[in-house]
Amino acid sequence: MNTEAIVIRIKTPSGDMDSSVDCPSLLNFNDLLVAIRDVMPEATVTAFEYEDEVGDRITVRSDEELKAMLSYYCNTMNEQRMNGLLPDPLQIFPRAGKTPGIRNIHGLKVNTRPNPANDCSHAVPDSIANNSLKKSSAELKRILTNGQINAQDIHYQEQLGHGNGGTVYKAYHVHGKRVLAVKVIPLDITVELQKQIMSELEILYKCDSPYIITFFSAFFVENRISICTEFMDGGSLDVYKRIPEHVLGRIAVAVVKGLTYLWSLKILHRDVKPSNMLVNTRGRVKLCDFGVSTQLVNSIAKTYVGTNAYMAPERISGEQYGIHADVWSAGISFMELALGMFPYPQIQKNQGSLMPLQLLQCIVDEDPPVLPVSQFSEKFVHFITQCMRRNPKERPAPNNLMDHPFIIQYNDGNAEVVSMWVCRCLEERRAQLAQGRM
Ligand code: ATP
Ligand code: MG
Repeated sequence: MNTEAIVIRIKTPSGDMDSSVDCPSLLNFNDLLVAIRDVMPEATVTAFEYEDEVGDRITVRSDEELKAMLSYYCNTMNEQRMNGLLPDPLQIFPRAGKTPGIRNIHGLKVNTRPNPANDCSHAVPDSIANNSLKKSSAELKRILTNGQINAQDIHYQEQLGHGNGGTVYKAYHVHGKRVLAVKVIPLDITVELQKQIMSELEILYKCDSPYIITFFSAFFVENRISICTEFMDGGSLDVYKRIPEHVLGRIAVAVVKGLTYLWSLKILHRDVKPSNMLVNTRGRVKLCDFGVSTQLVNSIAKTYVGTNAYMAPERISGEQYGIHADVWSAGISFMELALGMFPYPQIQKNQGSLMPLQLLQCIVDEDPPVLPVSQFSEKFVHFITQCMRRNPKERPAPNNLMDHPFIIQYNDGNAEVVSMWVCRCLEERRAQLAQGRM
């Protein structure tokens, strides 16, 4: 069997939980069951299911059946790789038994801790294993997902981009055997502030949504923080020109779902804009760079002064703001992506999105722009107009966003449309680059 690390996605009623298993050949049924029970403590899970290539559910109740599942999955993973795709995680669906039982009566071990030498032959001592059963799901996730990513295990590849404050690199994590995006931000701050940032970032381990970039780890080396996340091979939306409405519709659904998820965790994104919306060739759309750490945001803001052109009028004028400010930013971002230009022609965004406050005053003073009805559907025009109401209270709240006819129309789970469009744009970009070299 394939001995490469795999990602198992446990589908729970409260969301998905991804766990990286460094040595799948050592995984046994009980280990996995204990891990599942730990993330679903309220259910009595006795078995789980996976889907075969035609979508039929197959139950796993023993080591033999687990082996069959892993070997089926490894074949699919190899096939996806051969086709140039990043493998999907192995999705498993926990099955709850009818009567509540005594949990962990066999004293089973969670044997999924990555060990430092990446040597699969050492079992986890019982004391550690039993301890990990008591850990919160967030912490368990961290143990399962990456242990610790150390600076020396990261091999930097190319630079993906540079924003206000940080530089993002594509990198390879040797132990986890996966590609990462690592954002490196130089910060001259005290050790106390560093600790505060690290503890504020803890919440990222809890974020678990298909519409939010997966966070792996963060660490300080000298005066730089490195934030390691999932790599998205389509990059950010700011580099795509004009996006056709039927593609943008599916993107908008993912963004709205991502925001709704963050809001449900009481997190405001605070920096919704096209460069923080990432896509991949599988047609997934995910949000990144949301402001979970006030201290990190403040520390960066000390070096980079300016106001973000996607900010809602109430934020530009320094008033209090909430969820509705994210809704504005999403609206203006979609409008820019639909038009292929920033909707306020007098605002020239040359480098990045930060500008002197005075230049953005028109956003506060003028009536918001409206998409031309001749070029876009009525539903789309209405959706953007609602999101960009000057009065925050008139903008749709989370449930109204999901219920908007434009979102309903494109909420069909069709990732294929986005995937084909991303692949075509990347292909065009490659062709243009090649032509430029000739
Ligand atoms: P700002 O600093 O104002 O947020 P920004 O979003 O453009 O601006 P960064 O967040 O530093 O700047 O990102 C720089 C670029 O790196 C992005 O525009 C995007 O193209 C790329 N990038 C960031 N994260 C990823 C990722 N996870 N996968 C692939 N590319 C990424
Ligand atoms: Mg960004």
